[in-house]
Amino acid sequence: MIWSNYLPIVSVWMATDESGLIVSDFEDPPLSWQHLLEVLPDGVAYVDEHGVICQANERLEAMSGYAREELVGRAIGTLVPSWCRDGPVTTHDELDQGPSARAMTGGSGLELLRRDGSELSIETALAPLVLDGKLWTVVAIRDNAAQKAAEDLRSDVELNAVASELAAAEALANSEQRFRLAFESNMAGMVFVDLQDGVLAVNDAFCQMLGHSRAEIVGKNITSFTHPEDRGIAEEAHRRLTSGEVDQVSYVKRDLHKDGRVIDLEVSKSSARDASGSRLYFVISVRDITEERALSAQLTHQALHDSLTGLANRVLFEDRLSQAYARAARQANRGAVILMDIDDFKGVNDSLGHLGGDHLLVALARRLEKVSRLSDTLCRFGGDEFLYLAEGLTSPAQADQVAKRILGVLDEPFFLAGSQLELHASAGVVVFDGTRNDWSELLQDADVALYEAKRQGKGRHVLYTSSMRKRAVSRFALVQELGQALQSGELSMHYQPIVDLTTKEVVGFEALMRWQHPERGLVPPDVFIPLAEQSALIFRLGAFALGQAVAEAASWEPIGAQASPPYVTVNLSARQFHDPDLVSTIKGLLSASGLAPERLMLEITESVALADVAGTMSVIKHLDRLGVAIVLDDFGTGYSSLSYLALLRPKIIKIDRSFVSPSKASVRNNTLLEAIVSLGQKLDMTVIAEGIETQEQLARLRHLGCELGQGYLFSPAVPKLEVAAILGRKSPGRGRRPALPTTVDPPPARNRARALRS
Ligand code: C2E
Ligand code: MG
Ligand code: MG
Repeated sequence: MIWSNYLPIVSVWMATDESGLIVSDFEDPPLSWQHLLEVLPDGVAYVDEHGVICQANERLEAMSGYAREELVGRAIGTLVPSWCRDGPVTTHDELDQGPSARAMTGGSGLELLRRDGSELSIETALAPLVLDGKLWTVVAIRDNAAQKAAEDLRSDVELNAVASELAAAEALANSEQRFRLAFESNMAGMVFVDLQDGVLAVNDAFCQMLGHSRAEIVGKNITSFTHPEDRGIAEEAHRRLTSGEVDQVSYVKRDLHKDGRVIDLEVSKSSARDASGSRLYFVISVRDITEERALSAQLTHQALHDSLTGLANRVLFEDRLSQAYARAARQANRGAVILMDIDDFKGVNDSLGHLGGDHLLVALARRLEKVSRLSDTLCRFGGDEFLYLAEGLTSPAQADQVAKRILGVLDEPFFLAGSQLELHASAGVVVFDGTRNDWSELLQDADVALYEAKRQGKGRHVLYTSSMRKRAVSRFALVQELGQALQSGELSMHYQPIVDLTTKEVVGFEALMRWQHPERGLVPPDVFIPLAEQSALIFRLGAFALGQAVAEAASWEPIGAQASPPYVTVNLSARQFHDPDLVSTIKGLLSASGLAPERLMLEITESVALADVAGTMSVIKHLDRLGVAIVLDDFGTGYSSLSYLALLRPKIIKIDRSFVSPSKASVRNNTLLEAIVSLGQKLDMTVIAEGIETQEQLARLRHLGCELGQGYLFSPAVPKLEVAAILGRKSPGRGRRPALPTTVDPPPARNRARALRS
């Protein structure tokens, strides 16, 4: 092959016979022949039939390191290293077989043994030559080092290519194995589906999730395991993938377990494509989030519901309210917020214990649920307060009806721990139509209306009006100022005489607090005392009243022939009465002032006494030991039952002025007055009639046998300086109506109006 490159050249000067053998005159080669021989890039030698070199060219000299003279006469075999001598010998033997039988031949992968013993990579081409009847061999030797280097390089590259192909194949096998492992042992469910969602393969995790065997899943449409209500979600995801809108989708859906359970799954589905980008199938990975979701649902429920009653809490209520508010605006209808508060719940808690109180709240919640509409929201606002959100109302009158329905759940008594309990509640109602700016004010408005309901006597609901808010603002300002009033000496105690209705002698005084406001004038106590009761301020006011009254009374002299000076009665608010320090405070005041305990009486209202009967009984017992009596004030306005009265056994009851001087004289009130006076007599209690304004009222009370009374007919509450005057008069009421002091309280109604004018 390599030799053929030379043939055209050789053929220029070599004649060949019919069999292709070169036939020429070797002895006398033309000049051009010798010349050509020398310029050939390969070494050339003429070898005789014994293998002896007869002629060599210059190139062979350079290649072999032998001088030309050394080459001539040398056996060609000495240029062949021993390790590859077999090859050339064989070749030579073939050559020896005779020209007619041989084709031109040669070899590659041979080495030339150079003079210095080094080897040179060569290729040879041998051509037989018959010259003068003798057989010669023309040996052409090409230095193959460069070519071999190139070929070595090529084969290295080829080897590398093969190696890298092998490595790639191994990597492929490895990655396939890795992939298989990742697929089979993945914690997530893995599914391969065809382009129509038919299942091609699934892993164990997926089978376990659904409770089906591999055979039950493979071949089915994957959506057949999806919850019927969520198939739309899966189909939409599939549509987005197949339409090319996305290449990967994630969604959450429910599947059906083989046992019928619903399981929540987080699904990721993506396209698997071949090298050309054509979609082959879909890979779905699935995570079971059932427990996660249940937990988060539980947490969400906890965050939005009251733990005791399970009702919505404030957060959820406000969310619903904001939505309802927007809906009312859109649909041009109304809604209502009803804030309900159990009256005197503290007493319930005190007598039943907190656990009992909790049971009661739960029982109430269940009743409220029964009268709630599904579209409405019921919420425990905290403590004993409940909120109700009514939607889709057409008129404020409907809100009124809803409030009645809500409060109506208390019509029936509760039965708890073997006892029957009557509960009452008040409610503030605010109607909205979505046209105000801020829905968040609705709760404040409901609170304002609730306050109004409590103020109006509890056990009722009141519809919010804007004037109520003005009053609330004024009230707030008043509370701020009340705190200052104590320090700046604006508060003082006035005293209203309590008179023996037969002798008209002053037997005692009721201490009543007054607030001389620098701008508002005289603020009546039934305006500021309830405000103070809502904060710790009431303790400061109460301490002030007690301290002042006890100190003042200690200085009083007996009137006329009386053995001892008049007593003083001091009003106590609920919180004050149930203050654990009350008895010791009173003890301290009495000993500091020197006032005899029997000259001090404490007035509490029926509701204060009955809110916690056990607690009241205990306080009364302690005060009794001290020698201090209790007066049950405003008797007849509360809801005391006869059994409680027998239990508490107060020494004195004060008939509320609504029975003594009713705005409208009624047969019913007259009968009640008669009944209360006779009850007091029968239970051996002293009866004081409040608010006697006319001689007729006085005459009637005397006729009924009522012993004591107080009222404008005798004297309003007067400042302490005027008490001295009354005491000095000796017998203020004897035989004549006592002259009214100069500093008369204005009638309470006018007072209140003035106080609230801001
Ligand atoms: P209360 O204890 O029932 O006091 C009687 C109220 O009737 C007093 O009103 C008195 O001025 C008023 N009154 C007396 N005679 C007549 C009359 O003939 N006609 C009319 N219409 N009213 C008469 P006041 O002083 O305005 O006190 C109102 C309420 O404020 C008291 O009712 C009492 O519950 C509370 N209060 C007054 N001072 C104190 C106090 O120092 N501490 C506490 N906790 N409450 C007080
Ligand atoms: Mg009183
Ligand atoms: Mg009273």
